[in-house]
Amino acid sequence: AELLQVKDLEVSVEGKKILKGINLTINPGEIHVVMGTNGAGKSTLANAIMGNPIYTVDKGSIVFDGNDITEDAVNDRAKAGIFMSFQHPISVPGITVENFIRTAKSTITGENVRALAFKKELKAKMDELSFDAAYAQRYVNEGFSGGERKKNEILQMSILDPKLAILDETDSGLDVDAVRIVSEGVNRFHNEKNSVLIITHHNQILQKLNPTFVHVLINGKIVKTGDASLVKEIEEKGYDAYKELA
Ligand code: ADP
Ligand code: MG
Ligand code: MG
Repeated sequence: AELLQVKDLEVSVEGKKILKGINLTINPGEIHVVMGTNGAGKSTLANAIMGNPIYTVDKGSIVFDGNDITEDAVNDRAKAGIFMSFQHPISVPGITVENFIRTAKSTITGENVRALAFKKELKAKMDELSFDAAYAQRYVNEGFSGGERKKNEILQMSILDPKLAILDETDSGLDVDAVRIVSEGVNRFHNEKNSVLIITHHNQILQKLNPTFVHVLINGKIVKTGDASLVKEIEEKGYDAYKELA
């Protein structure tokens, strides 16, 4: 069965209509990429799926894992298995990486996550990412480099192990290392049961990911969907060719 079904979704922010009827179906095992012009509504779509209350759903529905979650709070969506990383990750002074992820895990699973077992799991996942174990005791994102923020993001994703991971990547400011951390991290996480929705323009990420579907989002609408070859087509034609479809 489908993991995510977004049906005829219309979303406003501060009274301004941003998404104008989005249809998107994601099945288990698929990687979907959303590309599009600046301000098209890509981050709005990600936030609407996650349930960020700033974004108002005016019309349509979001069904996840068989349940209508359109009205559900962020926490309930996280418990249902949706994870979202942020385009501009916030720093969290006073809370260590270890405590942050452990708290998130016990909130999501509804179980008390035992400290020692968690330390071991965290250490193993950090090793996979070549993430210095000392960072477990650092405050979240405080003084982290771009690459370290990405490692922290991928670390959260791999420990929380969502059914759907939504990654909203910046168009600029990611160095080669950070791009590699994201693509490798996604590939390590991804399997035939879970799904990834990634917003990015980085060709290097896309070449390594082998997306199932690529969507072009312009002016609040998905104007074209294709396979991985669409990335090359966009690169050649630019977005102007798609604006006429919006
Ligand atoms: P994209 O991620 O495709 O660049 P966004 O979804 O961030 O686009 O933004 C789409 C439009 O919605 C833009 O015009 C933006 O200014 C507006 N918007 C997005 N988030 C907010 C917000 N929190 N407050 C006000 N306007 C917003
Ligand atoms: Mg954005
Ligand atoms: Mg894999």
